[in-house]
Amino acid sequence: MSVTICEVGPRDGLQNHPLVVAVADRIELIEQLSASGLPCIEAVSFVHPARVPAMSGAEAVLAGARPHPLTRLTGLVLNAHGLTRAFAAGLAELRYAFAVSDAFNRRNANRSAAEGRAGAVAAVRMAQARGVRIGVVLATAFGCPFEGEVDPGAVIDAAAELAAAGADELILADTIGVAVPRDVRRLVPRALPLGPTIGVHMHNTRNTGYLTTFAAIEAGATIVDAAVGGLGGCPFAPGATGNIATEDLVYALEREGITTGVDLDRLLKTAAWLERRLAVPLSGQLLRAGRFPAASAGRRSAKP
Ligand code: ZN
Repeated sequence: MSVTICEVGPRDGLQNHPLVVAVADRIELIEQLSASGLPCIEAVSFVHPARVPAMSGAEAVLAGARPHPLTRLTGLVLNAHGLTRAFAAGLAELRYAFAVSDAFNRRNANRSAAEGRAGAVAAVRMAQARGVRIGVVLATAFGCPFEGEVDPGAVIDAAAELAAAGADELILADTIGVAVPRDVRRLVPRALPLGPTIGVHMHNTRNTGYLTTFAAIEAGATIVDAAVGGLGGCPFAPGATGNIATEDLVYALEREGITTGVDLDRLLKTAAWLERRLAVPLSGQLLRAGRFPAASAGRRSAKP
């Protein structure tokens, strides 16, 4: 059994970080992550630089990054202008995100959820016409900070329309980290028969991110998002924690016998490098505890 980890640290992680990281360092991060064997990296977001300064220079990042040939780079798109930029940047693959809940989409994108969904359907059709692979991220699929509970039926309804339009992937996102495994076990099996590859993007805001990610894998999801070091969320805002940490996820998956293709030692080195570069402690636990068994201990025991 194997799953595809989509590394979102360079986008979801850095986007929410108070320090604006230089383009050269973002390129270095992407290349290091790629060298650790990660098959998919969400490298940039095509948002307005005045709105999200941390994501400015998406084109420069993509033009400069030299990932391993087996790593797919993707970029996040939120509207028609971002879509134009993503196509112009020559990406072979992109992700389009909108929020299923109306209040969140209005605050985030200044549009209703229905308008966001229509924009996603149009993006899928345009990407298909250009031969660009497209995944759609259904944000707030498990709960909305303004409306509370989100109806799973509404999520599946949107997912069905996007599947019919030809989306290659559908990513169910727990944007504010409220889901528990039961929510995932209810939603993922309803999304699987729609056709596209199903993935999840779970935040660890309430310490349920690993639980829900594992529940999703057991329910049949084959793409899971994570951010190196558990990057994401503002370290100065209490409770605003980020994504699940890629290296912690890799550790658990590999010990479970689920193949990720990631070199954990190399990934840990990247997490440590990033922590030094950002000069704030990251939330990943393996950074503190180390892997088990330790790589060096394994080598020692192999010798007489
Ligand atoms: Zn996120």
